[in-house]
Amino acid sequence: MSFQNLGLIEPILKALETEGYSNPTPIQAQAIPQVLERRDLLGCAQTGTGKTAAFSLPVLQLLHERKVPHRHIRTLVLTPTRELAIQINDSLTAYGRNLHVGHTVIFGGVSQNPQTDALRKNPGILVATPGRLLDLMQQGYVDLSHLEIFILDEADRMLDMGFINDVKRVIAKLPPRKQTLFFSATMPPEIQKLADSLLHNPVKVEVTPPSSTVDKIDQSLYYTNRADKVKLLIHLLKELPIKNALVFTRTKHGADKVVRMLQKASISSSAIHGNKSQNQRQNALNNFKEGKIRILVATDIAARGIDIDELPYVFNCDLPEVPETYVHRIGRTGRAGLSGKSISFCDQEQLDEWKAIRKLIGKDIDIVQDHPFPMDTTVTPAPRPSPSNQSRPPRRDFRRR
Ligand code: AMP
Repeated sequence: MSFQNLGLIEPILKALETEGYSNPTPIQAQAIPQVLERRDLLGCAQTGTGKTAAFSLPVLQLLHERKVPHRHIRTLVLTPTRELAIQINDSLTAYGRNLHVGHTVIFGGVSQNPQTDALRKNPGILVATPGRLLDLMQQGYVDLSHLEIFILDEADRMLDMGFINDVKRVIAKLPPRKQTLFFSATMPPEIQKLADSLLHNPVKVEVTPPSSTVDKIDQSLYYTNRADKVKLLIHLLKELPIKNALVFTRTKHGADKVVRMLQKASISSSAIHGNKSQNQRQNALNNFKEGKIRILVATDIAARGIDIDELPYVFNCDLPEVPETYVHRIGRTGRAGLSGKSISFCDQEQLDEWKAIRKLIGKDIDIVQDHPFPMDTTVTPAPRPSPSNQSRPPRRDFRRR
């Protein structure tokens, strides 16, 4: 199966070539022709399966082909996290580079002014997280009355994160006649009900979750404090027989900080992230592969596409916001039948992320309690939308789960 067989137009095929995609993933092969036929879609798929392109490519094509006299928001992509929203918007930029379909992204936690400026231009596609969208809708900045396509991404995570009522409030404001693409990794009853109420005779597409591939990786977790993470990393690098390791951080700044502290501790390392030039990244990767440096520190975006054959250890200095990203990160070790180990650090702020990862992985992971930098449990964790004792760190009397 090739992209040429899916009914995609030349400017999109060219963009895919630029991206270096040679073949569609299973969800893309199944979904793209159906979405181009304007069918509703129910996609059971997680991040990492190529689902972003599965909806972005046909949507870009439909908007490009169906010209309208005035600019309006014609497609809404609703996604639970800021990280996903940014990724989707970046994907639209990449896949739509040879088309003239405007798009923008809105999410909370930052000033709304640049977002409202962008909304005044009536982008064809709006990518949004639910809270900020509702807020800007209430302030009158978002007109969805001309919406043609609605995409609900990661519906089950919306439920887990306590956003489902916001999602329903947004849905209540959408025009009744529209094409709807509904994505969810799992189908709990409430999500099934929502899907039933939204979708008309949908095509169902299901792809296998990537988590099944990580069973052979020896995973462990250390509860610690945010401020102690790099100290713990240095301690482990000194104590354990670790020849080399890939260390993930959430931010570029975090990656640079880890490298600075490792170097102070005389542990050779380099960072690869979006602020480094292609040359710098390539050099760092080559030095790592050749054993000239022991540790490569990477952000998720920079680590995409890097291929290291013999990687015995992966560290998650920060847990990823998206649980599937955990699977992708640790899946870089234990390749080609070799054994692999992943070591993750979880601080007070990341208990919910850990809970989501455990749910996705579906098995218990070793909690290492005997280490010099345990989490300070005298500080009460901040209240969370869906607290669960399962995600809390062990208290004083540390016991193996
Ligand atoms: P997603 O599941 O949409 O988050 O995509 C996961 C990753 O796969 C992203 O880094 C995409 O850039 C990449 N990707 C998506 N589709 C393809 C494809 N057909 N070939 C190669 N890489 C892809």
